[in-house]
Amino acid sequence: MEKTGFRRNLINITPYVAGEQPKNDRIIKLNANENAYPPSPMVQKAINGFDVSSLRRYPDFSGEPLRSRLAEYYGLKTSQIFVGNGSDDVLAAAFRAFFNGSEPILYPDVTYSFYPVWCEILKIPFKTIPLREDFTINVDDYCVPNGGIIFPNPNAPTSIALSKGEIIRLLDANRDVIVVLDETYIDFGGESCVDLLGSYDNLVITRTFSKSRSLAGMRLGFAMGSEELISYMNAVKDSYNSYPVDAVAIAAGCAAVEDDEYFKGTLKKLIATRERLAGEFTELGFKVAASAANFLFVTHPRYKAKDIFTYLRDKGIFIRYFDSPRIDNYLRITVGTDEESDRLTEAVREFVR
Ligand code: PMP
Repeated sequence: MEKTGFRRNLINITPYVAGEQPKNDRIIKLNANENAYPPSPMVQKAINGFDVSSLRRYPDFSGEPLRSRLAEYYGLKTSQIFVGNGSDDVLAAAFRAFFNGSEPILYPDVTYSFYPVWCEILKIPFKTIPLREDFTINVDDYCVPNGGIIFPNPNAPTSIALSKGEIIRLLDANRDVIVVLDETYIDFGGESCVDLLGSYDNLVITRTFSKSRSLAGMRLGFAMGSEELISYMNAVKDSYNSYPVDAVAIAAGCAAVEDDEYFKGTLKKLIATRERLAGEFTELGFKVAASAANFLFVTHPRYKAKDIFTYLRDKGIFIRYFDSPRIDNYLRITVGTDEESDRLTEAVREFVR
């Protein structure tokens, strides 16, 4: 319906839809790729010891000392790190800072469904590039004139990683535009491209504390890139919100980065559970994509994905179903604890029977 009067000036947008939030804690929540395990005990300690009286001051506007901690961890300069309020905030700053041309930016047809939302709200021209039939990225399709490139590695919701060799090929063919690699899930598998930052000054990598560091509720994300590109992201941030990262989040983030042993231990457990779960789903007749993330992307040749989704939902197990082209017979399932995974497999086994 056409809008008239003051309503004609209202925003016209389809927002991103996040995974459903359960109303009680008996639900097994495997629908938002959150970490199955709690954050490091050092995070708890940092929060317990946090000096509340310091909250009367604004936090450091660049997210210090978290920024330096991350720089040290990844072997970069502090000026090469940008921190934000979750990687969604970081990605929004990247879209604003880097995608201002008239040529369309490129991203896969099946990918993180927030990208089209940012393009719409920021009026960025874009072109989606179909993944191959097996849901892998074909780098050749990105070797065409464009206004920038973004994709997650591993991709979401497919869980499939692109090799570093292929990413290098993509970067070599796209020296004149900015390539944003969304490494939200890279800690669970796949090869990080952080060590390519020295060779490609047009590469920006985004990361989050929400997945591998179990801090989705804290809202922390960061980007890594050349000093020049990071300075543009900071200019964008300072143009809409000078202090996106609060002081408690900075303290929690620092503690999470310091406890590397806990971080690596959690990853190891989740990867082991993922592999076991993938085996069990394969035995149940599912086709399971080779996952390098903390979730599985599956389809069954005999059953409708939506029916499985609804069956599990009624049993108190939340997974993710996307009613979108090409993937409307697939399910995205977050890897939970061993116990959660056992209950999931049990319920799916009942369904298949
Ligand atoms: N990128 C991808 C590919 C994601 O799946 C997500 C999680 N929904 C994000 C970015 C954003 O995560 P966060 O804002 O929690 O860091």
